[in-house]
Amino acid sequence: MKRLICWIAAVFLLCLGAVSGRAASEVTDFRWVTRNDSAVPFVRMVLDVDRLPAIDAELNRDGTVLSVELKKTEGKQVEGVYALNPDIVSGVRIAQEKRNLVLKIQLPKATVKEDINVFPLKADAAHQKPYRVVIDVYKVVPPPTFKTTAGLQDKVIVIDPGHGGSDTGAISAKNLYEKDVTLPIALYLKPLLEARGAQVILTREDDHDVYGPHADAVSELQARVDIAERAAADVFLSIHIDSFVRPNVGGVTTYYHRKTVFDETLAEALHDHTSQVPGFDDRGTRTANFYLLVNSTMPSALVELGFLSNPKEEAELRKDSVRREFAQQIADGLEAYFNRADRISR
Ligand SMILES: [Zn+2]
Repeated sequence: MKRLICWIAAVFLLCLGAVSGRAASEVTDFRWVTRNDSAVPFVRMVLDVDRLPAIDAELNRDGTVLSVELKKTEGKQVEGVYALNPDIVSGVRIAQEKRNLVLKIQLPKATVKEDINVFPLKADAAHQKPYRVVIDVYKVVPPPTFKTTAGLQDKVIVIDPGHGGSDTGAISAKNLYEKDVTLPIALYLKPLLEARGAQVILTREDDHDVYGPHADAVSELQARVDIAERAAADVFLSIHIDSFVRPNVGGVTTYYHRKTVFDETLAEALHDHTSQVPGFDDRGTRTANFYLLVNSTMPSALVELGFLSNPKEEAELRKDSVRREFAQQIADGLEAYFNRADRISR
């Protein structure tokens, strides 16, 4: 995430007009936008100018105020106070200070120079764009707290047995409930991981709702995310069993959401193992905007271990040996993940 630093604290002599005594530059427009199309979101502020002025940029000591001075510049049309994106740039005041136009940019969190980029753009006649001064401020992102070293020793793993209590999850034609399959797999998994040195927390250890009976879906799912966040989990894994209207559809799927550079690796490592359990088709890894995956900050995955709507797979899922086998494969998959993550982080 290292970005090229273009910290302009000097004078631009490139522009032809930058000689002392010339008439002032004039700012004719100020606009801004939040850009979410980069790895880290940023606010881009743009000032249109009739010619490029000298620019001075200075960040105060605690990184909360960025002052950008356009030398010998007037900007009656843009003077004022602007509210921007409260997460990245809380506000900007543009005012004339003697011969210079000064932007006082308020930053909500202590920002470092590497997260700020101030640069001029030449006029672009082909696209009818004037000279511009651009100020980019990147969002302050706290460093990740989850561990990505090899092995399961000392890793904190939160396992979420899907559904529970008032929420049965899927129900098979022969009345097998999803919640009653996800729980035993999680209970078998816990000691396997602990034997390899991990600290394991289950979102539920018996048949109950995590938030409360008959809660709305978001409250129930957020309660599970909260457990993972409070535990500062290194991995958050939710276990589910699929269902579909057509009984011939079956297989194991692993879902992930690409919010860290590790989510895909986690899903692949898990899937390499869970797809080895005999009697189930392999539906591969897939991306999804599932609540648990999007709203947790650590690498997370959601496994769908076969289909309750598929009679063949439903019969397998009733077997204790199959549930133990899934637990074993998940444990191996998690260990494989940490070993891969360790190589990625180097
Ligand atoms: Zn489910």
